Amino acid sequence: MFEGLSERLGSVFDRLRKRGALSEADVATAMREVRVALLEADVALPVVKQFVDKVRERAVGREVLRSVTPGQMVVKIVHDELVDMLGSDSQSISLNAPAPVPILMVGLQGGGKTTTTAKIARRLKDRERKKVLMASLDVTRPAAREQLRILGEQVGVATLPIVQGETPVAIAKRAMTAGKLQGFDVVMLDTAGRTSIDEGLMAEARAVRDAVNPHEVLLVADALTGQDAVTTATNFHERVGITGIVLTRVDGDSRGGAALSMRGVTGMPIKMLGVGEKVDDLEDFHPERLAGRILG
Ligand code: GDP
Repeated sequence: MFEGLSERLGSVFDRLRKRGALSEADVATAMREVRVALLEADVALPVVKQFVDKVRERAVGREVLRSVTPGQMVVKIVHDELVDMLGSDSQSISLNAPAPVPILMVGLQGGGKTTTTAKIARRLKDRERKKVLMASLDVTRPAAREQLRILGEQVGVATLPIVQGETPVAIAKRAMTAGKLQGFDVVMLDTAGRTSIDEGLMAEARAVRDAVNPHEVLLVADALTGQDAVTTATNFHERVGITGIVLTRVDGDSRGGAALSMRGVTGMPIKMLGVGEKVDDLEDFHPERLAGRILG
């Protein structure tokens, strides 16, 4: 991720660092270049504007321009603001609630929701020694429920037995009851996805939300879809309410626009990154590390 952006910013900052002294005009020129680089990386325009304004405001400060190494100080400011833009306080998935902790997975079809559900379940089981139960609420696509069952077998995580003819809310409630009776720590509910956002999808997600009162509502979105992923997140947040985002297909995303815009546009943190098709291709989200990667 961020290859193009990293290269572009690298050349802007090399030039800045080489100069002994900087004027306000030099900073303005550099900021224009940073702006173009961010837009080319597909970062949302309001996020770009806010970022550039914040950096410019801090960078034309007297202490910066009069310092011995003004170029380096500007780069440091850009670094700090990048971390801020990515979400400096971003947290991991919270399980801080009475067991079984319900986690609701939402998103569009094909975004990687089912795979990510299994990836997270596996991680909770292996790293945090949690007993996890997964349930598919997709009553319209038998293949989706079968996919979760197979993934469950693969990662060694239980799935709720399938009963035909139930509504998503009924399945969710049954999963919570089974979770309680059988001593599960976490119940992960994989909701149905649609190819586009529609009222039926949202109403269904809201009904499940109201039935189980999830501790986390995680939106799974495909990084490759860029600003569409951000729009999807905004829609789900406004209409269902989400607590965090898992960005998938980051392994194929060279631009990074969705990652850079998510926090600024939706106000919600990215909690994890999907970095491949395999069940262990899941990473924590570290704004510091990513900012470091962008600035080389
Ligand atoms: P859902 O419809 O949202 O449940 O999506 P799926 O979980 O079925 O995923 C759709 C496809 O995307 C599958 O082929 C997954 O293997 C693939 N996929 C999911 N996450 C990632 C990821 O992080 N990277 C890559 N390269 N592929 C992914």
